[in-house]
Amino acid sequence: MKIEKVIHDELNKLIQVKTSDNYTVESVYYRNTLCISSQVGCPVRCTFCASGMYGLKRNLSYEEIINQYSLATSKGYSITNIAFAGIGEPLLNWENTKKAFWLFKQKNLKISFYTTGFPLKNFEELLALPHNGITLSIHAVTEEKRKKLIPKSANLEDLLKILENHIKPLSNRKKKLYSLAYLLIKNTNDSQEELENLANIAKKLNIPISLLKYNPIEDLPYQTTSDKDYEKAFLFLKEKGIRVTLSTRYRTRKIGGCGTLMINRLKKEKGGCP
Ligand code: SF4
Repeated sequence: MKIEKVIHDELNKLIQVKTSDNYTVESVYYRNTLCISSQVGCPVRCTFCASGMYGLKRNLSYEEIINQYSLATSKGYSITNIAFAGIGEPLLNWENTKKAFWLFKQKNLKISFYTTGFPLKNFEELLALPHNGITLSIHAVTEEKRKKLIPKSANLEDLLKILENHIKPLSNRKKKLYSLAYLLIKNTNDSQEELENLANIAKKLNIPISLLKYNPIEDLPYQTTSDKDYEKAFLFLKEKGIRVTLSTRYRTRKIGGCGTLMINRLKKEKGGCP
């Protein structure tokens, strides 16, 4: 693998790495964190995500996962945190992800995950790892809607039950390692009723919500929520007593951020994650 290109802005560095079989893999560096990819393309095929649009090309080997870190450090970036939050679902390349996890662990890095929680068996294993944070992307509060947004997904009720059983006995300090991600999409999952249900789920689990704003992607049938409605949803959840965080400046930049942000640019360049 070798670095093909680094695209900078004042907040993020997006590192494009070429594999030996000519795929481009992406990592994003920001604030001592390297957000890495676990797959080339993504088999989950979330209907709002550019990375999922063309499905999975192949899994990354564990060496290729680690190499994203080695190549970023070779550029002089100081990295203390790894986030499995780039392209791909780490639970669907689980053996390689686990191997890479333990290798990162040996380097004393703090390791966190963004996941849709599928398959459940691997999600349970992930919960048991000595990780530094898990954000479960739910994006919908009913099975039907979630299947539409995240076609390859576990049953939401089962997923939340597993998370609840895991979190319940934990100390308050440990509970802080968990959160839910909810990508707010205009006229799709932003009704009052849905936000109410979302608040109830977070309250029951006693964990925060990372409320993400959708970055519109050419050719996909979704629209971004206005700033006003985004703020309204945020305030609504806050008033319900939920700890909520908003999309960071890092994520809303087109070249930066993690997980669901991918990316108009990929489509335009027809490079990147297919
Ligand atoms: S949002 Fe994440 S899990 Fe869904 S298709 Fe995109 S990369 Fe895959």
